[in-house]
Amino acid sequence: MKSHVQVAVIGGGVVGCSVLYHLTKLGWPEVVLIERSELTSGSTWHAAGGFHTLNADTNMAALQGYTIELYDELERISGQSCGLHHVGGLTIATSDERMDFLKAERAKHRYMGLETEIVGPDEIKRLSPITNVDGIIGALYDPLDGHLDPYGTTHAYARAARTQGAEIHLRNRVLELVPKPDGRWEVVTEQGTLKAEHVVNAAGLWAREVGEMAGIYIPCHPMEHQYLVTDDIPQVYEHGKELPHVMDPGGETYLRQEGRGLVLGIYEQPCELWAVQGTPWDFGHDLLPENLDRIAEPLEAAYRRYPCLESAGIKRIISGPFTFAPDGNPLIGPVPGLRNYWCAAAVMAGFSQGGGVGLALAQWMVEGEPSRDVFAMDVARFGDYCTRPYTRAKVRENYQRRFAVSYPNEELPAARPLVTTPAYGIWKAQNAVFGSGYGLEHVNYFAPPGEEPYEVPSFRRSNAFPVVAEECRAVRTAVGINEIHNFGKYEVTGPEAAVWLNRIMAGRIPREGRMVLTPMLSRKGRLIGDFTITRLGSERFQLTASYAAQAFHMRWFLAHLPSTGVALRNISLERIGFQIAGPQARELLARVTHEDVSGTALPFLSARQMDVGLVPALVCRVTYTGDLGYEIYVHRDHQLALYEALSTAGRDLGLRSFAMYAMMSLRLEKSFGAWMHEYRPDYTPAETGLDRFVNFAKNDFMGRDAAMAERDRPPERRLATFVVDAQDADAWGDEPIWKDGKVVGFVTSGGYAHYSGKSVALGLVPREMIEPETRVEIEILGERRPARLVTEPLLDPQGERMRA
Ligand SMILES: Cc1cc2nc3c(=O)[nH]c(=O)nc-3n(C[C@H](O)[C@H](O)[C@H](O)COP(=O)(O)OP(=O)(O)OC[C@H]3O[C@@H](n4cnc5c(N)ncnc54)[C@H](O)[C@@H]3O)c2cc1C
Repeated sequence: MKSHVQVAVIGGGVVGCSVLYHLTKLGWPEVVLIERSELTSGSTWHAAGGFHTLNADTNMAALQGYTIELYDELERISGQSCGLHHVGGLTIATSDERMDFLKAERAKHRYMGLETEIVGPDEIKRLSPITNVDGIIGALYDPLDGHLDPYGTTHAYARAARTQGAEIHLRNRVLELVPKPDGRWEVVTEQGTLKAEHVVNAAGLWAREVGEMAGIYIPCHPMEHQYLVTDDIPQVYEHGKELPHVMDPGGETYLRQEGRGLVLGIYEQPCELWAVQGTPWDFGHDLLPENLDRIAEPLEAAYRRYPCLESAGIKRIISGPFTFAPDGNPLIGPVPGLRNYWCAAAVMAGFSQGGGVGLALAQWMVEGEPSRDVFAMDVARFGDYCTRPYTRAKVRENYQRRFAVSYPNEELPAARPLVTTPAYGIWKAQNAVFGSGYGLEHVNYFAPPGEEPYEVPSFRRSNAFPVVAEECRAVRTAVGINEIHNFGKYEVTGPEAAVWLNRIMAGRIPREGRMVLTPMLSRKGRLIGDFTITRLGSERFQLTASYAAQAFHMRWFLAHLPSTGVALRNISLERIGFQIAGPQARELLARVTHEDVSGTALPFLSARQMDVGLVPALVCRVTYTGDLGYEIYVHRDHQLALYEALSTAGRDLGLRSFAMYAMMSLRLEKSFGAWMHEYRPDYTPAETGLDRFVNFAKNDFMGRDAAMAERDRPPERRLATFVVDAQDADAWGDEPIWKDGKVVGFVTSGGYAHYSGKSVALGLVPREMIEPETRVEIEILGERRPARLVTEPLLDPQGERMRA
């Protein structure tokens, strides 16, 4: 074994081998993989080997597409067969909601270049004659679906990596990981110690244990999973050609052909967590005891769906564990708080996702960032709130919902409430309908008095629609109050604070008492944050950005923080408060403070410390609603006192609570983009219009070269606003935009702008299309709805309200 390497990949399952292969492919040959036993000794060896592209997240779906297309290349380079069966697959719908879901998926696939299609019961019967089509409305057919040999595929990755210079050490457990002051790791193994510049935790079932070796918790947990393999079935082998996969989400099963019989896998509701105390080191090529009682119900449904199963014997039952993150997506990337410790864990569909995970992680390590936005699988999408019990509750929920329809407006109930602000009780008393993001409870909207505070999940306009309209109207015509807890907040102080911010932010740094909006860019000029910077003193700043991006942003900040001169604190839960917005907002503020808050004394984008009611507060003249408004920040201990002052003073001004949905509606009629919708690492400043906040006069800031290049050569696509002739469903995000019978772009987010009374979509389209009144069609739930492009916000295009 070498004593020094660039990378030590820990774990020889399909994921570790894929990471190893991609590192060598991108030109890092000094890499080793260390495997405790033989390759495939975790979840990998007993997998059913199915692969598919379907994933609610478009970038995940694209990476799954990449994985599937990679197998031919792997076979070629390694000379090892992956045992590929490209048989195609059907995901069937037995309810209108699921059909809507499949249509929405199909629509996304159009601009992703995936050739899926919606088929009816006759076609389903033709493709899969063993399927009883009673009750089936239709299906999504994906020609890329198929299955493979897990053992052969893992070895193909390994061989291809070896061909390109990697080393693999088997029967050698990693025992300890010791961080060194120079950022390297001492990797203590059964066969000796080596120094690695980077380590990758690809330990699958043991990812938690290999995390603990570095003192961190990797939020994932193994679940038990069973599939049956049947004896030969005449209807199967007499069919003449291999049958396609059939996913029956309503029945919670997946089915494929295996030789002359079938494999039937089950995601059952009474599912079981495995190895709660930790994965035993002596577990390897082992199976778990089968439990037919647990899967009795879905089995019965499967016998009805595939009647030929009734006469078939069961050859074997495979019951094995595999690992999930709380939301079911992988955990990849640099682990926050550690240097050079990377994660490639919780990959629950190693044969659909393993290639994409390996590629993205290797790009991140070798090139500094992945080539596409991988936030959906970034380990930093979870933060400290993510405890072990939280993970377990969410993992179980996720397993149970593996085949559930995912509605865009759905809030999942497990492990809640987890994190709350002091105002939680106030909102609850007002009949709030809560959502949860990054562990924190936030209000989506307020249900009418006497009504159950529950939003019915739907692809169409929900029962929230009329009440959100009222909340919007209150803001635009009187004044609304809303909690500003959905911001991540950071305090940056010190003699070098301004210099540092100037370097990591692309925009201007404000003078004292002022605020600016600025993008934060990656080295390659991609958007990794849209920040508001408030300067509280010559050496004191408050930054605000997305609450859900806290670990993501802190990781970036800490990686670029100088060793002296700048102090950084995450104050997201410490400094909270409310925003008040609407034409009466100034009057309301004036009633609760003795300070002069007139337009001249406290103009737009200015900030001042003052007493509000009984408590000291930071008042910032800005709101995301696009109206006259203020964000008022206080210490969390003072939040209730602040509420008391504002609510009492606002009583006769028409003050009304409003929440997240209303805010998202109000920002749409202002064409304001939102983080992870319009602004995300897939896009650049010039594509999204954030270039207007880039200070090109600065001669040194992160991402400057890329931003300058874009200024000289504008990108091909650009963000635009559309007014959609929608019916009972608005665009949500990811819908294709059609022009002259071709897909020319896609929606980044959409919804109903209640005050303007219009359905609005924001989306990226070719820049030459950006002319007023350009006519397009936006495909919503399989239906192409007419839409027209508007080049000005629907409300107050000159911004007079917010500057009033
Ligand atoms: C019954 C069942 C059916 C499945 N069907 C499918 C399917 O059809 N399609 C699909 O895509 N996925 C399927 N899966 C999931 C799939 O198996 C996993 O996604 C995949 O195997 C994960 O691979 P991995 O490399 O991350 O982890 P693992 O396979 O668990 O590999 C981790 C490796 O790390 C090694 N290791 C751990 N700790 C150390 C250490 N300290 N030192 C050295 N080595 C170490 C282990 O020995 C092991 O070999 C199924 C899973 C189960 C249980």
